[in-house]
Amino acid sequence: MKALVVERKNLKNNIKKIREIINENDKDDNGNRVKIIAVVKGNGYGLGLVKYAQFLIDNGIEFLAVATVEEAVKLRDNGIKADILMMSSTAVKRDVEILLEKDIILTIGSKEAGDVVEEVSKRMEKMARVHIKIDTGFGRYGFIYNRREEMVEQIKGWTNIKIEGTFSHFSLAFYGKGTEAREQFNRFMECIEVLKMNDIPTGMLHICNSSAFLRFRDMHLNAVRIGSAFLGRLAIPNVWGFKKVGYLKSNVSEIKILPKGYNIGYSNSYVTKKETKVAIIPCGYADGFNVKVDRDMFRTIDKLRYIIRDCKDFFKNKQLYVKINGERCKVLGRLGMYHVTVDITDKNIKINDEVVFEVSPMLVDSSIIRDYI
Ligand SMILES: *Cc1c(COP(=O)(O)O)cnc(C)c1O
Repeated sequence: MKALVVERKNLKNNIKKIREIINENDKDDNGNRVKIIAVVKGNGYGLGLVKYAQFLIDNGIEFLAVATVEEAVKLRDNGIKADILMMSSTAVKRDVEILLEKDIILTIGSKEAGDVVEEVSKRMEKMARVHIKIDTGFGRYGFIYNRREEMVEQIKGWTNIKIEGTFSHFSLAFYGKGTEAREQFNRFMECIEVLKMNDIPTGMLHICNSSAFLRFRDMHLNAVRIGSAFLGRLAIPNVWGFKKVGYLKSNVSEIKILPKGYNIGYSNSYVTKKETKVAIIPCGYADGFNVKVDRDMFRTIDKLRYIIRDCKDFFKNKQLYVKINGERCKVLGRLGMYHVTVDITDKNIKINDEVVFEVSPMLVDSSIIRDYI
């Protein structure tokens, strides 16, 4: 058996850290505290969508955000009553119907999406609650920032839509000097000015994800959208004392003594140098162990960077380890999809002893139990 273990203590620590940063820093123009919008997309960053959402709510979070219709529906169907923002704009009628039926706050980021929300919400005789999305340079969802007249024209025509917020998303907030983020922020604020000049209510304003929240204290506006910081898994150096949340737990299922000169694993890439006692554990790359996110290779500079990194790795010891009863043990041979073989020679390890794998929860299959401790 195996489970993804979620440490409540660490999660609470991270929620507290985020609150501390907000408390020392933030009041919006009306003296209100900056709101936390907890992003729970991707199966709650791997922590289990419903369990994680409930944990956050129990710890004072009032506003959730998701990226897909499926996530929104699953939260509602499992009794989650908090405000839920669906962050992706959609012009698909069926999606809009479902979202309205489930009382989800929609995002509108195009004329087409606006038209559909108007039509569907009128037909359902239900005022649509929405946030407007402005694309300030991401190239994905949102009204394009420099076509402001079009945006104003479109929004002025809405009659059955209540605007409760306006937001944008940074494409590059985790490294560099922040020049790009500042540029996007300025574009966003210009759009807000134009909306205000046209007497269009903007509702709550938000633009920061975790990295931007931590790096750009003057960009918090009325709310911040936090995902990875709750898990303590930041794309920037952690100087705030966030704790990593989530590890994979399993058990030793078999123990063997392999003779000297014996192959271990696919492609015959490892041969025992001496008689070796091994433990077999039913976890592998399908459980997110040693899985890396794909590299992008659009720019020559990235290709060079990866070549240099690979050269460095070549000289470093890339040996993988797991912990059995808290003791570090070497992985031998290639990882299997659901199996790993570990060297336990001279160690007092027995069948069923506990094994801990360091993984990113997001990469752990959603069918694996999430165990909150
Ligand atoms: C995922 C996401 C976030 C949260 O990002 P983190 O970096 O994990 O905090 C915020 N906003 C949008 C639109 C997102 O898609």
